[in-house]
Parts: sequence; structure tokens; C-alpha cells
Amino acid sequence: MLSNTIKANKILLFVSVFGVFVWGCSKVPLTGRKQIRLVPESTLIQASSLSYQQVLDTANIIRSGPQADMVKRAGNRISAAVEKYMKAEGLEGRLTGFNWQFNLIEDNNVNAWCMSGGKVAFYTGIMPMCQDETGVAVVMGHEIAHAIAGHGNERLSQSLALRGLTAGLDFAMLLNQKPEAAREVVNLAMGVGGQVGMLAFSRKHESESDEMGLTFMAMAGYDPSEAPKFWDRMNKIGGQRPPVLLSTHPDPGTRQQDLKKLLPNAMKIYNQNKD
Ligand SMILES: [Zn+2]
Repeated sequence: MLSNTIKANKILLFVSVFGVFVWGCSKVPLTGRKQIRLVPESTLIQASSLSYQQVLDTANIIRSGPQADMVKRAGNRISAAVEKYMKAEGLEGRLTGFNWQFNLIEDNNVNAWCMSGGKVAFYTGIMPMCQDETGVAVVMGHEIAHAIAGHGNERLSQSLALRGLTAGLDFAMLLNQKPEAAREVVNLAMGVGGQVGMLAFSRKHESESDEMGLTFMAMAGYDPSEAPKFWDRMNKIGGQRPPVLLSTHPDPGTRQQDLKKLLPNAMKIYNQNKD
């Protein structure tokens, strides 16, 4: 029995590793970093849609007013800029199945997230930190970058591969047979939540989203020089209980240095795209 299990695990591991070479290797748009994505994006988008609907069903959604309008406007402008960029780079295939949604949810947690397929949520708790629409655009660019980069898929693939699973196949099975369990897995991988136990993105993913987010907001005509100011405000409230959004984020000093390096190029893009 035991040896059979070991054998089965070895076969699964082989298939997993083999799968990496067949269809799991890709490059992150904009940064060009090589990454492993084992779960078909369509499967993740399907799971994300279910999960997002469930969040909306149980949340108090703010549907109108200046804050909800800012979230929708920043979301529409940045997603349009991202789509234009992806098309120009011949990467529109990575957006297959995307159906953007931008919702503001009544919740005191200082958080925002974007699931596979472009399902975005902002919590009211982060709005005072944003201050205005450009502040919203800083967060929007960063969160959309996580989805465009496929960080959730990458993280899910890593954890599934570690367990020797044939990621795509097993995840699709899980989704069919135990949708609740699949939903939990997706939420963890996408950084949805705001409570203890949530897996934060790695620093590598955070830095990459900072870089991509800065460019995306500039492409949409938002002033990227507001980004370092926003993260500065976030760090000030960090204190003893840092917001989830900051939990594994880069060291504040490092982040500011990195943003400073990226800013001249982002400003060039902004100057070409501002009204
Ligand atoms: Zn992040």
C-alpha cells in the first residue's frame, strides 16, 4: 500500500515536472521574469468568478457616491490602458476570459485585491489612505498587476507542485467535486481576505507589482510620483498591527528606493499619456 502510494506520488511528480516544460513556463508581461504557471488560467478564472460572487453576496457593496465612482473610474482607465498595452505587445491571449469588475465594499480593513480574470475589490478602510483618485490608482495599478502577472497562479502552482500534484488536473477535479475547498484555495492564492491566516504575496511578487503598477497607472494618465507618497502614508499607520496589504511587503526604505529608481521612466510614460 505504502509503496504504491510512493509510486503514485513519483508518477504525479514526474507528470507535474513534465507539465512545467510542456505548458507551465511563461514570462511575466513588462518585467519578462520567467515563471511557472501550472493551473490553466481558465480554471482559475472560473473559480475566481464563483469566489468573487460569493464575496459580493455577503458584503455590503457601496454602489454610488464619490468613493465608489473613483474606484470604478480608476479601474476602467487602468484596465483599458493595460488591455491596450497587452494588445500592442501581442500578449492579449493572457487576458482571455477576463471580465473586469470594480467594487467598493464596506469593510474597515485597509485592503484591496484583484482576483484572476480582473475581479477587483476595494475596502472602505483603504480609502482614507488613498486620499484621492490618484491614490486609488496607485493601489489599483498594484492589484491589477498581481492579476496580470499571474502571481496567484504562480503561488498556487508552487504549493501544488510541492505536494507532487498534477496541478491543473487536480485543481480542476477539486473545483468540480469540492467547490468550497477550491474556493478557499483560490482565496488564499489571490490574497483575498484580510484576516489572520491569509497568505501574503512574496516580496518578489510585491516588488514586481510595484513596478508594473507604477507603469500601468502612468499609462492610464495618473501621476506616478504619487505612489511613493501613498506607500509612505501606509507605512505610517503600519505600527504594531501592519495592514494586511503591508504584511510581507518590501522593507519601507527598500520600497522607496526602488520606486525612486523606477519613477523617471514612469514619468516619461505619464507625460505621454496625461490629458
Ligand atoms: Zn501586493
